[in-house]
Amino acid sequence: MNALQNKVAIVTGAASGIGRATAQRYAAQGASLILGDLDEAGGSALAQELMQQGGDAVFVRADVARAEDCETLVAAAVARHGRLDAAFNNAGLSDGPVPPGTLDYPLALWERMLAVNLSGVFHCLRAQLRAMLDTGGGAIVNTASIAGQVAFPGVPGYVAAKHGVVGLTKGIALEFGARGIRCNAIAPGVIDTPMTSAVLDDAQGGQMLTASIPAGRAGEADEVAGLAAFLVSDDARYINGAVLPVDGGYLAR
Ligand code: NAD
Repeated sequence: MNALQNKVAIVTGAASGIGRATAQRYAAQGASLILGDLDEAGGSALAQELMQQGGDAVFVRADVARAEDCETLVAAAVARHGRLDAAFNNAGLSDGPVPPGTLDYPLALWERMLAVNLSGVFHCLRAQLRAMLDTGGGAIVNTASIAGQVAFPGVPGYVAAKHGVVGLTKGIALEFGARGIRCNAIAPGVIDTPMTSAVLDDAQGGQMLTASIPAGRAGEADEVAGLAAFLVSDDARYINGAVLPVDGGYLAR
């Protein structure tokens, strides 16, 4: 399937988990990729792997908490291809396998959580919107979380940042919909990636985490990638401002 043939796409947080699976999916569907991540070794290895498979991918080291790094990612797309059609703003951090609790939540963690998980999306969006407006439009997908739709106790930074991503997504959809840009969010539930492996690999922790999921299991990164690919494809051309869960039914309660 070549649904993304000739599309130029940015994926952040591409070195691992959901970002990595989505970059592989985008490449398999024919997109040319700019991969951004803090992890230089993992990101470069993925770009090389995709090139060896006949794809087109370049890795750019970027900390999404720095606005200038997000500008650099977009500049790389424009320099290489003359435009940007799609973006998956996915880089993110969790606040640890054990909820720190609000009273003891370190201020530095709060600031980093908002800087990466919320401001990181804003920085990327702004640079991407400018490039997309120059060439007539595009499609953006932000990774929120079920924690952007409902709260979880003890993780105020993560919950606040992900609720922020949902609001930001809807605002961008309203502001830019008439100018050819769609902006949607994905709300993953518990997905088996390095971010969650410490809890999922622990028998008791894993059971507690999956007990509340109607599917009875954690999701796979590739199950999120499928939606991330659909949302930037032309088949999703009438979907804008949506927040779509990939959560095995968790949010249905
Ligand atoms: P992951 O840890 O496997 O991957 C995250 C990637 O983001 C890593 O490669 C990391 O290096 C990169 N990254 C972190 N901070 C960065 C920064 N400042 N700049 C650039 N890159 C940075 O985690 P994942 O599970 O694939 O998470 C991807 C996204 O999905 C995150 O936004 C996360 O909050 C969200 N999410 C994950 C789950 C889950 O259960 N795994 C659930 C809901 C939402």
